[in-house]
Amino acid sequence: MIARTTEEKEGITESGRRLGAVLAELRRHVAPGVSTKELDDIAEKMILEGGDLPAFKGYTPEGAPRPYPAALCLSVNDEVVHGIPNEQPKTLKEGDIVSLDLGLIHKGFVSDAAITVGVGAVSKEAQELMNTTENALAAGIAAAKVGGRVGDISHAIEQEYKGTKFSIVKVLGGHGVGGHVHEEPFVANFGHAGTGEELVEGMVLALEPIATAGKGTVTIAADGYTYRTKDGSIAAHFEHTILIEKDGARVLTEVA
Ligand code: MG
Repeated sequence: MIARTTEEKEGITESGRRLGAVLAELRRHVAPGVSTKELDDIAEKMILEGGDLPAFKGYTPEGAPRPYPAALCLSVNDEVVHGIPNEQPKTLKEGDIVSLDLGLIHKGFVSDAAITVGVGAVSKEAQELMNTTENALAAGIAAAKVGGRVGDISHAIEQEYKGTKFSIVKVLGGHGVGGHVHEEPFVANFGHAGTGEELVEGMVLALEPIATAGKGTVTIAADGYTYRTKDGSIAAHFEHTILIEKDGARVLTEVA
């Protein structure tokens, strides 16, 4: 992956700012009784009204059987990622945890971010899993430094789960982003510091720790998209698009 030009950095920064605003709005709507389709509709409407495009709708990731049918990926409880909110909509209930994963294209520039949100009061375990995963993302961001390696990020994320009962979903991970939804390099959520591609000023990456309260093995549903934990345990997912700058990484998708 190459360093971005000034124009690209500005475009991706604005894409990320807009995406963060949509996720903040979605977070305000998460409540018992709300349907997953309502949240997808809100996301799509807000993105289109801003003159932008939802990056996931119509996108076919490598290996997927068909284009993704919604703006938002919405994964509830034991759904890990890529839950489809608008085909067989669910009604959220108290105690659920919901991963909201969204991509936005602004003037051709792509950003990608996710948050996991509790629906009303959640279990202590669910809260700890969400907190650990959000901390893992922060640790990965802090490790994304000019002159370092991709493995520094992977290792920093993995360390946050040491001593917990939680498991990293090893088949999923972060990636380059900015010009397309998925670019090189793959950023594993586990690994060795000092290994992998060198981190350079101007790189844009989407970092996304994904973990479960049980084992880290997953299955894909018949819809071709929804990843679930094999053991039925709950999962959490946090993601930011970041820009690596001289003095450290800047988060482009603050949810505010
Ligand atoms: Mg992503």
